[in-house]
Parts: sequence; C-alpha cells; structure tokens
Amino acid sequence: RLQTHKITTGSRNLDDLLGGGIETKTITEFFGEFGSGKTQICHQVAVNVQLPIEKGGLSTPDKMAKAVYIDTEGTFRWERIEAMSKRWGLDPDEVMSNILYIRAINSDHQMAIVDELFNIVPKENIKLVIVDSVTGHFRAEYPGRENLAARQQKLNRHLHQLSRLAEIYDVAVIITNQVMAKPDVFYGDPTQAVGGHVLYHAPGVRVQLRKSRGNKRIARIVDAPHLPEGEAVFMITDYGIAD
Ligand code: ADP
Ligand code: MG
Repeated sequence: RLQTHKITTGSRNLDDLLGGGIETKTITEFFGEFGSGKTQICHQVAVNVQLPIEKGGLSTPDKMAKAVYIDTEGTFRWERIEAMSKRWGLDPDEVMSNILYIRAINSDHQMAIVDELFNIVPKENIKLVIVDSVTGHFRAEYPGRENLAARQQKLNRHLHQLSRLAEIYDVAVIITNQVMAKPDVFYGDPTQAVGGHVLYHAPGVRVQLRKSRGNKRIARIVDAPHLPEGEAVFMITDYGIAD
C-alpha cells in the first residue's frame, strides 16, 4: 500500500473526516438509512474523480480519470451528474462520457461485472468503481436468517474481488449499504442492524451516515484507529455534496 491517492467528496468537512478524501487501493463503505445521502455521494465522487489532481480529482493533463458506476437499485440519474459537473465548470457531456454506467440485475450479474472489470480497468484510466448498493440483490435473493451464512459467503467473495481490484490497479472503490432505522427489526443480521456494515471482516473504511435537519447529514467513521474520531456535517444541495 505504498502510494495511494485521494478524491474529494465535495465537502471539506467530510474530506477531513476521511483523512483527505476517498482513498485509492481501498474500499470505502457508506452505510445508513434510506435518504441518508449514500447515492448522492456516489454521484458526486463519480464527477469529482475527473477533476485535475490539484482540485481533488485524479485526472492528469494527458489522461482523464474515469469512473465505473454499478447501479443495483436503478437510482442513478444522469441529471444529477450534469448538475454536479456544472458546479465545477466541467463539460457535462465529457463528464458523462467518462462514467461507465452498468445496471446489475442480480447478484450473479453484479459479481460477473466486477470480474470483467479486471479486463477493463487496466485498459481505460478507471480510478473509481462504485457499487450502489452492494447488498441489495444479496438480501433479496438470500432472505432471512436461514440464508445468512450462504449470503455472507457470497458477499465476502464479492468484497474480496473488489478489494483486489482496488489494490492491483490503484483504484478507489465505494460501496453502499442501506441499514434499517429501527434496531430490532433485523436482529441477528449484522449488515442490517443499526450501525451494521458489510465490511466488518474486510479491510477498508466504514462511514455511517445519518439524517439531520433539512438537507444536513452527519458522517461518522466506524472502527478506524488510523482516522480522526468525531463527526462531520455536510449538506446535500441541488449542485451536490457540500459543506
Ligand atoms: P440514500 O442513497 O442514502 O437512500 P440519497 O443519496 O438518494 O439517499 O439521498 C436522498 C436525499 O438527497 C433526498 O432526501 C434529498 O434530500 C437529497 N437530494 C436528492 N436530489 C437532490 C437535489 N436535486 N437537490 C437537493 N437535494 C437532493
Ligand atoms: Mg441510494
């Protein structure tokens, strides 16, 4: 893990909490309840990775940094990419052409896409891979406690592939995981409990998101001794993630 790079989230507060931004060669998990801002952060970072290095992205004068967006829930919106690009004065058409959008229809498809990325990433200048959400299909296909072990085994294989991809090609990986607001509902399922996250055995950074008043959101890092404690407040605006 010699040299890593960082991508700005668009919020200085959130970047500081993350020790500078979303890091390459690692998985960053955003987990939180519905509407906590997971998908909006994914959109914003898919734009921001394309900024020049001095502005918090990973593009160099000769090579634009590209993103892969694996959408499992159908919540991706090109209009959001457009609005978030204009914010930085980037050409929205160019930004959109540098996002490889893939809709994953089930967990096998989702895993096959990541396998295929081992062929695509080295050919293109892909610096960011997003899986929003990483857990949705797995939960739908392996419901209940009786399927928990099988589901986790498969999900762990998926996470392992993502982590290899990140390390080998110096790519940042962002995954999201929706958790329930009510603690007792999914008792026994660690990925769905409040404070639950999928990366509990895998390396990476886990960020819990909570709703605050209006468009304010609160982020907190969960068990990462190398990162500062505390919380960051950020906002979801119509032009994107901001302070
Ligand atoms: P999650 O993926 O965690 O369920 P989202 O990232 O989809 O949550 O966040 C949804 C929230 O983002 C909405 O509740 C809304 O507050 C905010 N949001 C979405 N689109 C816009 C927009 N165009 N302008 C301002 N806020 C928006
Ligand atoms: Mg979402």
